[in-house]
Amino acid sequence: MNANCPCGREKTYEECCGIAHKNIANVKTAEDLMRSRYTAFTHANGDYLMLSHHTTTRELDRKQEIADWAWSVEWLRLEIISAFDGGPDDEEGTVEFRAYFKENGKEKYLYETSRFIKERGKWKYHGIVR
Ligand SMILES: [Zn+2]
Repeated sequence: MNANCPCGREKTYEECCGIAHKNIANVKTAEDLMRSRYTAFTHANGDYLMLSHHTTTRELDRKQEIADWAWSVEWLRLEIISAFDGGPDDEEGTVEFRAYFKENGKEKYLYETSRFIKERGKWKYHGIVR
């Protein structure tokens, strides 16, 4: 029985990404926002995926498509490879990660270095760096 948060931290969901999902203003670092977005993918929580996306780059009309895809795959685990800046006093940061999932019986992963930028004091996902 694994009670860890889907993002992999040894905390319950309520003590980890659940805090972010309740109120995004609680997110202190870019890595925590990244983790909360991964967990939102595992819950197919399209509302949070849109809320946590920078308003200049998000595609609100793709919310359902993204949530449907997130629901259709089996999320396995998140691996944070590196994180630069993105601390409580920073305005920007990057997080490099692999998100593992199973799609049509095949294990795959999404590898990305993401840029996070604060918008009105709250961490938001801006997009892919590379
Ligand atoms: Zn978590």
